[in-house]
Amino acid sequence: MAWRYCEDCKTGMDPPTLRQALTEEYDCPQCGSNNDTLGSTAEAFNELIDMLEGMQNRIEALELKVAESSSGRPNPLFEVWTADSVAECLTGVPEELYSKLWNEIVPLQPENQGDNYNERCLAAFWAYLDTDERVLLNKLAEEEDARNNI
Ligand SMILES: [Zn+2]
Repeated sequence: MAWRYCEDCKTGMDPPTLRQALTEEYDCPQCGSNNDTLGSTAEAFNELIDMLEGMQNRIEALELKVAESSSGRPNPLFEVWTADSVAECLTGVPEELYSKLWNEIVPLQPENQGDNYNERCLAAFWAYLDTDERVLLNKLAEEEDARNNI
């Protein structure tokens, strides 16, 4: 907002703050006269909306971070199950993820069928999954656990 001059004493004064513009409590520091904020209110609202939109974007970014951190660690189930068993046996795996597990992750698994689960399990390939996929898989694994504990 632009520099202003007091309507009474003509002293230069800082432009009204958002609060001053919206509450019309905009007093000259020199003579104390309450100056008109008309014309500043529209700008104040614009600035306020910009601030709110900025906050909204930051909240969304934070929510994404939270989702990422909660998806950071694979459910213990995936330290035992391989991508192919997840694709075939885990209830609720959507078509797209099923294909990704088979086409992108299974080929990365070491060949030998020993019990080297550390290298063969889906958890070893967690980095190949995006946040949404990790969140979904952890959720499905929890549901699987819940069913098995009945
Ligand atoms: Zn004044």
